[in-house]
Amino acid sequence: MDLPRYHRLRGAYYRLEGRRCTGCGAVAFPPRPACRGCGGRELEVHALAPRGRVHSFTEMATAPRGFDPPHLMALVELEDGPIIAAQLTDIDPEDIAIGMEVEMVTRRIQEKGPHGYLVYGYKFRPPVPRGEAS
Ligand SMILES: [Zn+2]
Repeated sequence: MDLPRYHRLRGAYYRLEGRRCTGCGAVAFPPRPACRGCGGRELEVHALAPRGRVHSFTEMATAPRGFDPPHLMALVELEDGPIIAAQLTDIDPEDIAIGMEVEMVTRRIQEKGPHGYLVYGYKFRPPVPRGEAS
């Protein structure tokens, strides 16, 4: 991802900010200029629930350049409805199951971004009981 795009999407990638349509209530992530449900353009910032369930997942044999292996990608169905693609972390591939609960954490995504700095963003992991969160 190039630098301007990264900064423009920073809110979305750090806080899971989507957009909620004031007309029909549909929630979109990543943000779109118009509602997919009704075509409305009156959209408000909507912080998505940082929890969801694994909709599907895949283990990529080779991690993309700059990413740490193993590279576990999942489609996570958020409590708010949108399904987003995200990396899974803090879990072994054999322990992942369709439908399992996951929560968002902000983690280092790439060792070095295209401009030589660390890139942070969201990943998902199994929920950690309160008091044990790292
Ligand atoms: Zn709408």
